[in-house]
Amino acid sequence: MRLRVPFYYNDFHCITDRCNDNCCVGGWEIDIDEETYDYYMSLEGELGETIRNSIVTSEDGEHMFKLNNGHCPLLLDSGLCKVHAELGEEHLGVVCSQFPRYSEYFGEYKESGIGLACEEAARIVLSANEKFSLVESELDEEVVEDSEFDKEYADIIFAARDIIFKILEKKELLIHERLACILELSDKMQDLINEDDYEGLNALISSYDQSDVETTLMSINREYEDGRFDSLSETEGIRSIIYAYEDMEVLNEEWERDIKDVVFKFHEALTIEEYYTYNSRFFALIQERMDEYKNLLQYFVFRYFAKAIYDHDVLSKAKMLVTNFFVIKEMDMAKWIDKGWNFTHEDQLDVIHVFSRQVEYSEENMEVLYEAFIFDEIFEKDNLMGLLWIDSVSI
Ligand code: SF4
Repeated sequence: MRLRVPFYYNDFHCITDRCNDNCCVGGWEIDIDEETYDYYMSLEGELGETIRNSIVTSEDGEHMFKLNNGHCPLLLDSGLCKVHAELGEEHLGVVCSQFPRYSEYFGEYKESGIGLACEEAARIVLSANEKFSLVESELDEEVVEDSEFDKEYADIIFAARDIIFKILEKKELLIHERLACILELSDKMQDLINEDDYEGLNALISSYDQSDVETTLMSINREYEDGRFDSLSETEGIRSIIYAYEDMEVLNEEWERDIKDVVFKFHEALTIEEYYTYNSRFFALIQERMDEYKNLLQYFVFRYFAKAIYDHDVLSKAKMLVTNFFVIKEMDMAKWIDKGWNFTHEDQLDVIHVFSRQVEYSEENMEVLYEAFIFDEIFEKDNLMGLLWIDSVSI
């Protein structure tokens, strides 16, 4: 099997007791795999007793640590883990030893990345200052046969993903324009996938070039000038997007506080003219730091786009890029106001960290979002395109 990772993957090292928001206090379930569970059960002495008293077993037989106010009971006051400190890293369960790494299997490839719910991983992802690339190496793991994996189709999706990484690198374009091109391309791909036209899909991807980018942007701009998006209100549109995020199960209090603050600041207290003024002031302030958004979007693309190999839903992955961008942008702006019109790289890291822990680390929460994409009108491709364009014009 081969391993494919983003270029920054091996830069990650846990900063343990220097971490401000240790993963052992995330409030999420900390599952224990069978092998580790058996080892903990066989441990003798006081430590074995302590570990066993910290474990619960669910009705369907899964073992996990019994959280105490969202905290792992084995987390020491020093910020270190009792198992790690007294037994060594090799006796951590799979979930604990792997976090914040995540993996997906695609035929002979295992893809791994580092997730933004860890502040150190978020720092590495957002601070990356080179073109996004993937690094491959041999892995000592057997390829598992998977009847649902279609190599030919997967290769097209990987090629499309490479195009998307490149679109995001186009620094001469606004981030909104890059997203608009990705949305348009994904929409065309989805039509072909829905018609089982894999030849057409292959032709679309293999011929995609700069002229497609230019055509897309010219055509959206023409639609904008022809008044196609006149019935859309940006603040009402983004408010409707946020409803889907508010429907998620709340995993941390900071998220609940921050999203309420966003709704109040930008969707209750401001007029649309004031919103546009704030928007253009904020983008003027951070225009030199657009790579933070670029890095963030490339992270989402790497982590989610290739899932379309199995669920055949390319368009939702692109919609998620757009909606995450709008929500994070407003969380950023709210922090900028709270910090007295100042917004540092560290502030961006804080926002991403809260967002990721809430949205990415619960499958149910991700499903809430994908379901909203199907049922709520605001998530139709043309509406998202309109919101991107109106927002881009206002900055
Ligand atoms: S959140 Fe990241 S840096 Fe912090 S303890 Fe967990 S793995 Fe280490």
